[in-house]
Parts: sequence; C-alpha cells; structure tokens
Amino acid sequence: MSGPVSAVRARAAAKINLHLGVGATRDDGYHELCTVYQAISLFDQVAATPSDGWRVDTRAEPYVDRAAVPGVGDNIVTRAGALLAELHDVEPRAELLVEKAIPVAGGLAGGSADAAATLVVLDELWDLQTPRAELLELAVQLGSDVPFALLGGTCHGSGRGEVVEPVHDPGEWWWVVVPHRDGLSTPEVYRHFDDMVPDAAAPASSDGLVRALATGDPRELAACLHNDLQRPAFDLRPALRALIALGESEGALRGLVSGSGPTCVFLCEDESHADTVAEGLRYTGHVTALTATGPAPGPAVDTD
Ligand code: ATP
Repeated sequence: MSGPVSAVRARAAAKINLHLGVGATRDDGYHELCTVYQAISLFDQVAATPSDGWRVDTRAEPYVDRAAVPGVGDNIVTRAGALLAELHDVEPRAELLVEKAIPVAGGLAGGSADAAATLVVLDELWDLQTPRAELLELAVQLGSDVPFALLGGTCHGSGRGEVVEPVHDPGEWWWVVVPHRDGLSTPEVYRHFDDMVPDAAAPASSDGLVRALATGDPRELAACLHNDLQRPAFDLRPALRALIALGESEGALRGLVSGSGPTCVFLCEDESHADTVAEGLRYTGHVTALTATGPAPGPAVDTD
C-alpha cells in the first residue's frame, strides 16, 4: 500500500561541452552558440520533503566551495520552485536539501542542473503532472543551460544554448574531471572572449564532432573536441594551460576546459584508463581528480 509521499529526490548531472562554438554578441547581450552538451555521472542531489513554508539547505563535498552557494533567496532552486508554483497557482511549500558534488562556478552548470532537478522533484511532490513541454518552457526562463539539464544525455544546443535537440551518441565515454575550489565567472570569461575576438562571426559548426560521436571511438572524439572559451579561460587562469598539458602527458587522449572553466576534463580510452590518468594526476598534486562517464540521464524522480 502506498502512503503519502515523504521525500522526493532526483540526481542532477554536471554537463560538459564537447563542442562550444561562440559567435557574435546578439542584441539581447547573449552570444550566439553552436554547442554539443554531454551530461556526465558527476551528480548533485536535490531532495524535497513537505513543509508549511519554503526552506533550502545545502551540503557539499569537501572540494566544493559551499560558501559560494547562494542562500535560499538567491539560490536558483528557489526561482525554479517559484516559477513552477506560479504556473499552477499553488503556494511554493517544501523543504529542499541540495547536496553538491558539482563545483560551483566550475563551467559544469551545476546550478542549472539543480534547477532542472528541482522542477521534476517539486512537480512530483506537489502532484502537478506538468507536461514536459511546459517544464521545458520554465527551464528556458531559468537559464540557457537548464533545458539541456532537464533532458540530459547528449544534445546539440543553439541560440544562446537553450534550443536543444538530442544527438545520436551510442558510445560510453570516460572522463577524468579536475575541479577547482575557486570558480570562474561565466560573464567574465565571455567578456574576455569579446576582447580577444572582437569580430566573432557565426559560431563554429559542430558537424565534425557529431560525426565523431556516432563512431563511438574515443580517439575520433578526442580529435574533434573544441571550446572557444578555452583561450580566454587560459588567459584568466594561466595554470589551466599547464594542467591540460599535464593530463595529456599522463596519457589522456585529450584535455579540455569545460565550458567557461575552470574545471578541466580529460577524455580517456575506457574506465581503467581513466582510473590510471586520475591516479597520475593525483600523484602530481591534483588531489581531486574524479572519474565520470557520459552520457548520463536527466533528472528522474525517486520517492520514499
Ligand atoms: P553558468 O551556469 O553560469 O555557466 P557555471 O556552470 O560555471 O555557471 P554554476 O555552478 O551553475 O556554474 O554557478 C553559477 C552561479 O550560480 C554561481 O556563482 C552561484 O552564484 C549561482 N547559483 C545559484 N544557485 C546555485 C546552486 N544551486 N548551485 C550553484 N550555484 C548556484
């Protein structure tokens, strides 16, 4: 017999950009993007329980700067809850626990992942049965990366990143993820991109990367990884350039700054190769070198 729901939770996957082509700034201030997102198995968890009010608590892994996570008022999960409640004209009542394993301001869209997970968790807790298309509309309002975070898997993104379309990705890809406690501000990295590339035209096409994904071959994929924000991120954080070189000298097929950084990801042949590269990086002083696989699914609810 099923009783009333006491807790609803969902995992919120980090994203990396396998291809990030950045074009000119649009009239609305956003850059035109051509990107391929992949969700990977580095997860925050969002849990919601019934409450008379609205409360958000946060816990974090030691390598995550918990102090950088905004309090309840500015946390993106509060906006997600408010938008969903407003759509259905209900009171936003819940107690949320956000457990962070995704570094803050790390270029892994952790906040966006939390927002997407919050939408599905509260939809279940409040028994709203919101159609997917309407959740996607709320996701667009919450941020450019939130629609992808709702879908998970591997997707092409266009517009400012919010127009998402699943991409055929039959592979199992293994990554080493090296986070940093000190984040990089995404707007600052874009501003630096504008200084470095004042005449940006159309964003670089992801066609080659999409073809490489379909082969399932990590060497093919390694050759096509591309991030236009890597150079500005190197400029703002010169140590990242050395870290990429180090990971590649430890045997990674290819190192890449994730999104706007500073997290760096390293593509490996398979799980045991990823373990070896992570161990090598730890040995050279990068205490936190995690392994993760992609593509990972979008948030799915789990109740008890
Ligand atoms: P962006 O999503 O802006 O590209 P990012 O992927 O580098 O950034 P996030 O971890 O999503 O990094 O954080 C971006 C900013 O969002 C943080 O600096 C923080 O102030 C704010 N934020 C709001 N809610 C959260 C949350 N639940 N977790 C992390 N950051 C949050």
